[in-house]
Amino acid sequence: MKLARYLYRGRIRYGVVDGDQLRELVGTPFQGIRELGETRSLGEVEILPPVFPQKILAVGLNYRDHAEEFGMPLPEEPVLFMKPPSSLLPHGGKIVYPPMTRRVDYEAELALVVAAECRDVPVKEATRFVLGYTCANDVTARDLQAKDGQWTRAKGFDTFCPLGPFIETEVDPSDLAVRLYLNGELRQSSRTSAMVFGPAELLSFVSRIMTLYPGDVILTGTPSGVGEMRPGDLVEVEIEGVGRLSNIVDQPAGSSLGKGG
Ligand code: MG
Repeated sequence: MKLARYLYRGRIRYGVVDGDQLRELVGTPFQGIRELGETRSLGEVEILPPVFPQKILAVGLNYRDHAEEFGMPLPEEPVLFMKPPSSLLPHGGKIVYPPMTRRVDYEAELALVVAAECRDVPVKEATRFVLGYTCANDVTARDLQAKDGQWTRAKGFDTFCPLGPFIETEVDPSDLAVRLYLNGELRQSSRTSAMVFGPAELLSFVSRIMTLYPGDVILTGTPSGVGEMRPGDLVEVEIEGVGRLSNIVDQPAGSSLGKGG
């Protein structure tokens, strides 16, 4: 099933997506999927990021083709970093181009949503702790990533983690097409089977470092073909069997970005 998180009449709710209808849940999906018996149309709610995590983990260089593109050796262990929950942006939301950077890149990624509190999870049991999968764009200020030597600023601006539209709970993540379209043009195209560390290995690895909580998110890395976005661009992450996440790049008020050149 597909799970949505949305705002309706001032309250945040979760629902099961059924065509253009939402069947509202009692509480959150982390307490079990129980339907309230009420439906709403997708058009009458405001879609939110499908979860609000305590933390967003992400992994660098996790696709063989992307590591080659950057001339980097394959990592022996996952290279982890974090994005703050304040960077989340829903499907349809605008990515704000910060005045502090001159180069903002897209990165199409499969995102895993943690179902329950867990730690020290063996790889073969990891799937039990996955609620489902969604699409993410690991937006990155590439110039600041190089300048800072670590990635907190480059990856952490508000709106730099588009996530959604929904959580797909029944997909097998082992061999899905991952694509990114910039203004309708295909820019990234790979399969999750090209990951160095798969979703189960990543959840297990992270859980040996820090306790994971319901709703925590793990971004699983991006394939080759990363590139630049400019204000006004439409950027879409499409993952087979999971969904299509669309966002527009906006410019801050008073900025000269995107004018000329
Ligand atoms: Mg990334």
